[in-house]
Amino acid sequence: SSASTRSTSSKPRLLVSRLYQPASLRDVGQDSRLAGEMTCKSQRLMQQAGLIHPFNPGCYFYLPATVRSMEKLVRVIDQEMQGIGGQKLDMPSLCSADLWRTSERWDLMGKELLRLKDRHGADYCLGPTHEEAVTTLVAHQATLSYRQLPLLLYQITRKFRDEPKPKFGLLRGREFYMKDMYSFDVSEEAARQTYETVCQAYIQLFTRLGLRCVQVQADTGNIGGTLSHEFQLPTDVGEDRLLLCENCSFSANVETLSSSTTNCPQCKTGALVESKGIEVGHTFYLGKKYSSVFKATFSNPQNKPVVTEMGCYGLGVSRILAAAIEVLSTDEGIRWPGLIAPYQVCVLPPKKGSKVEEAAVLAEELVDCLGEVLPRLRGEIVLDDRTQMTIGKRLKDASRLGYPYVIVVGEAALQKPPTFEVICQQTGETLFLSKDGLLDLL
Ligand code: ATP
Ligand code: MG
Ligand code: MG
Ligand code: MG
Repeated sequence: SSASTRSTSSKPRLLVSRLYQPASLRDVGQDSRLAGEMTCKSQRLMQQAGLIHPFNPGCYFYLPATVRSMEKLVRVIDQEMQGIGGQKLDMPSLCSADLWRTSERWDLMGKELLRLKDRHGADYCLGPTHEEAVTTLVAHQATLSYRQLPLLLYQITRKFRDEPKPKFGLLRGREFYMKDMYSFDVSEEAARQTYETVCQAYIQLFTRLGLRCVQVQADTGNIGGTLSHEFQLPTDVGEDRLLLCENCSFSANVETLSSSTTNCPQCKTGALVESKGIEVGHTFYLGKKYSSVFKATFSNPQNKPVVTEMGCYGLGVSRILAAAIEVLSTDEGIRWPGLIAPYQVCVLPPKKGSKVEEAAVLAEELVDCLGEVLPRLRGEIVLDDRTQMTIGKRLKDASRLGYPYVIVVGEAALQKPPTFEVICQQTGETLFLSKDGLLDLL
């Protein structure tokens, strides 16, 4: 890896001094206020820790630690989507206006659609979502058989939307990552079954990430269709308003309810409690809305062409990353879902010139040993080699970046047997462990 160098021994190690994490020097809040933008905790923490850097309104540099975290998140999403039979593909971002005119969304999308012309003057847009594209793809296959359904196709790509108010860092960008999956089924019943399976996979995904997520009834907006749910992370910076029943399982986005609703429309008695949420996922049952327009058919057992039943399912990948930081972090430091932390462990050797300086070599040995004994941690352990800085200062940085485990190699490491101070940042616990104890913990 480019951030590693060879030091005293011949082993390459990840050194904090070499990681590209340019923290914003100025106060992020003040910068944004001057630009008339709103800021929030995740944006401030991510800029201060050198995770993202603003470029244009709603467009950010994703710096190396963010890319590591995103790649991990993508792997978890891939596992869940492929676990239910999803097949990953990658569709063009440059989409011809013809398709969007056919579905009648070219005008409907209004200013949110980023439009451009090619050299011949033909109209295009940068894909905000891909119902049109995927449906023409599937329609193109003349021989699609009922035996091949359900067909679940998904991609994880950049999407483009000219948001009226891009804000809150990665939470609402004009260019962002989305996972969008599209399902094709033989009948409405089968499509509803697929819809339910995808919702279950979403719930499992958020559970694995350790995020409390609520599934609420949702409006179908510009996408269309009749059945729809959003997956919302309850938090005050969220821009959606949710109503949750105190009595029963009813939960809905306020957009779906008429203003006259007071008591719960499901159990009729429970009071509805309002909460704000960040929409991290959205599922739609589409029926034949797109498949009939683009003639996406399959051949049934009698060899007759039948129009497929569709569903579509979005996840805001970059939004999930920022939303997780928003709901888990303290004001001073990022806390990650363990599965997607950019690095799992940070090891701190003593300050140069301190009376326990000789423990420095133990820190290097520890890094090498952890990587050898625990293959899972290879490439996941960084050594904070900025030994001109005090332990306290480096601990503060480590706390801000939120490595799940920070190991201080100091005086206690020189004792026999050596002891290491381990700070578990997700729980806030500090433990003093032998090397074996440490291996067990990790
Ligand atoms: P919002 O209500 O926040 O504008 P949306 O309802 O327009 O989102 P969908 O069309 O349902 O979004 O897209 C699927 C998912 O993509 C959303 O659930 C969200 O997680 C994510 N997403 C949508 N817009 C953005 C954006 N501007 N920046 C980051 N993620 C987004
Ligand atoms: Mg929107
Ligand atoms: Mg929405
Ligand atoms: Mg939505």
